[in-house]
Amino acid sequence: MSELHRFIFEGLPVRGQWVRLTDAWQDVLRRRAANTQTGAYPPPVAQLLGELTAAAVLLRAGIKFDGALTLQIQGDGPLKLAVAEVQADLRLRATATLQGAAPAGAGLPELVNAHGRGRCLVVLDPAHRRHGQPPQQGVAALTEEGGAPLPDVAGVIEHYMRQSEQLDTTLVLAADAQAAAGLLIQRLPDNGGQRAADEGAEDGYRRIALLAQTAQRAELLGLDGMALLRRLFWQEKLLLLASPPGTSAPRFTCPCSRERVAAMLQGLGRQEVEAILREQGVVEVGCDFCGRQERFDAVDAAGLLFTPAQALMGGTQTLQ
Ligand SMILES: [Zn+2]
Repeated sequence: MSELHRFIFEGLPVRGQWVRLTDAWQDVLRRRAANTQTGAYPPPVAQLLGELTAAAVLLRAGIKFDGALTLQIQGDGPLKLAVAEVQADLRLRATATLQGAAPAGAGLPELVNAHGRGRCLVVLDPAHRRHGQPPQQGVAALTEEGGAPLPDVAGVIEHYMRQSEQLDTTLVLAADAQAAAGLLIQRLPDNGGQRAADEGAEDGYRRIALLAQTAQRAELLGLDGMALLRRLFWQEKLLLLASPPGTSAPRFTCPCSRERVAAMLQGLGRQEVEAILREQGVVEVGCDFCGRQERFDAVDAAGLLFTPAQALMGGTQTLQ
């Protein structure tokens, strides 16, 4: 079962979180594999999307905010788009769109920033957003200041947290076909009174961060939370924190519905929908997150758009 744990270290200005997605992540992969139009993700894409999803859970769980956090990579390489969305109660969904073959072993720079035009957005969307109010959006660079590519999702998020949030962050991520996992260590803002007498805050953070970085990929993916934390921090006074009220284990959920698709078609406009009907005979909309397919024939569409039904025959068209 998927799990998330929050912890601190007694006497040190350091906090941490550990996430391991098993069923939630396998759900994402299984739905994609069942989509006959796309088939399963190639391994480098599955790894990147799994790491992105684990990172999104860690960031979402680390802030006080009523709404969804989304990490969205817009790529200019074989990977066109990767999205991981996590709600306040840790319901999550994730998807990726390819526009070319992903070579075996390809990393983040080759997959999404082949021509230097890729970018990563960090989006906070309030649960009760007023009409017309845009979500909060930050841009995480895919390269360092000097232009050198950041090697992976963890590097991008660490860099973003330092630059945008002024928070020293160490992040270790891993994903495969069974699990997506991540360990995040963060320096707490110094409030002047929390330092251990014989040790500077700097040293405490560095020591914990170095220990976190010794986590091996197989350990991250294979050990459950307590076993991993005990192995890494056995000499430290680690205190587990209780989960905030209203949260439970991370799990896959897609809130899409026929009503939402209908609303989207209405937003698309009568002319556009009628053009698709003329060409294809039916409007078929697939949800990239869960694989749900909704079909609207001319009669359905007429009901939505209050236009005379145009009975036409033909194929199908998928809208994103
Ligand atoms: Zn869906």
